[in-house]
Amino acid sequence: MLSFLSNTLKTFRHGIHPGDYKDLTRNLSIERLPFSEELTIPLSQHLGAPSKCIVKVGDEVKRGQIIAKPSGFVSIGQHAPMSGTVKSIEMRHHPNGKMVESVIIKKDLFSPQTFYNEHAMDWENLSADELISLIQHGGFVGLGGAAFPTHVKLKTPEGKNARFLIVNGVECEPYLTSDHRVMLEQSEDIFLGIRILLKILGAEKFYIGIENNKQDAIDFLGENIPEDMNGEVVALQTKYPQGAEKMLIEAVLKREVPSGKLPIDVEVVVQNSGTIAGIGMMFRFGQPLIERVVTITGPGIENPANLLVPIGTPLTDVLEHCGGLKENTRQVLFGGPMMGAPQSDLDVPILKGTSGILCLTDEEVTIKEEFPCIRCLRCVDACPVYLNPSRLGALAKTREYEGMLDFHIMDCVECGSCSYVCPSNIPLVQRFRVSKALLREQQAKQKKAG
Ligand code: SF4
Ligand code: SF4
Repeated sequence: MLSFLSNTLKTFRHGIHPGDYKDLTRNLSIERLPFSEELTIPLSQHLGAPSKCIVKVGDEVKRGQIIAKPSGFVSIGQHAPMSGTVKSIEMRHHPNGKMVESVIIKKDLFSPQTFYNEHAMDWENLSADELISLIQHGGFVGLGGAAFPTHVKLKTPEGKNARFLIVNGVECEPYLTSDHRVMLEQSEDIFLGIRILLKILGAEKFYIGIENNKQDAIDFLGENIPEDMNGEVVALQTKYPQGAEKMLIEAVLKREVPSGKLPIDVEVVVQNSGTIAGIGMMFRFGQPLIERVVTITGPGIENPANLLVPIGTPLTDVLEHCGGLKENTRQVLFGGPMMGAPQSDLDVPILKGTSGILCLTDEEVTIKEEFPCIRCLRCVDACPVYLNPSRLGALAKTREYEGMLDFHIMDCVECGSCSYVCPSNIPLVQRFRVSKALLREQQAKQKKAG
């Protein structure tokens, strides 16, 4: 069936319009970052159980060779992003602030840094379960930032039906352009990845959702959908947080995922465009997920770029390659400004889920004085999941966490839209993150106590 472009711009209800600041990197082609002297591969860089290490200190490893296996269903394989020697296996700082067991690989100076086992995979003759297993062992996670193991979403539960695949090409966080560049530069991988996922899911149609601040990607992918594929590119209004699964499904298909339910409950599976390109590439060349495109940007970095970075590269090496930080740089985040995580240690490694590195200066990071709530309800208008952040904020401030459950705090997607619009500078999302973590801990304790 012929593909076509939508004439009207779709979107979800509520949300906000932060400035996009993507001009710094949107026209910069992807550039390959040279290998560092050492890479640090944390055994946990995804949601779920850490991978199980299968190498030992002193082992020689080749680029693409498996070094850790999945330790359960919600777990993935991990591979050596460059050839070298396992120097140590030790606890190292993780971008999430914790210490995590990691495999340290020292670069082999004399071996060519080419992929050791290049071969196309015969995906058309494999079953859905075999394909899912290859994706799990290939180490795929959501590259948009969530790092949820890809294969888990592809295993359709009994009694459910995945009719539609939505490719998430929204990239709604300001500053980031890594997905944008992948969509322009790796369309062959994206369409192959889509074919494979459609086969696994038995889905009848795919949609590629892209915001209209990436018109070149909308046009390019729309014009190049292969004639035998049933899909379309859906041009979306530019709005945050449209990259959140539930918002994207509402924007593209006008289907609402009910509270506590999953996309599959409305017959949809969503996968990030970069993840799909990576899967396409694995089936074309046999290369597992050992590198990813990262946007390095913000007013605090000398030379912004879109780089293809080996997983495990130290953040310091990436920053140095981009000319280093400016003198007045105050904060470095993994991810975008709305949901990104500030880093206190610049030696942490780039992870599979690192979509961007944002460097902000004094000007952007000034802490504003907090004032009392004036009940303007701007936060209520902004919240994409129809919560009352004003009420929730008041409960969080007085530590009435149990009461927050009645106001559906667990449905909060932590997008930060409410904090962004609040004229009283109340750090709403920060309070909600803490409240949710405490409530989860409390619920786990209660469950354990029976
Ligand atoms: S309450 Fe949660 S979901 Fe709603 S706007 Fe705030 S952070 Fe986003
Ligand atoms: S936006 Fe801020 S000031 Fe306005 S109602 Fe919400 S919490 Fe109160």
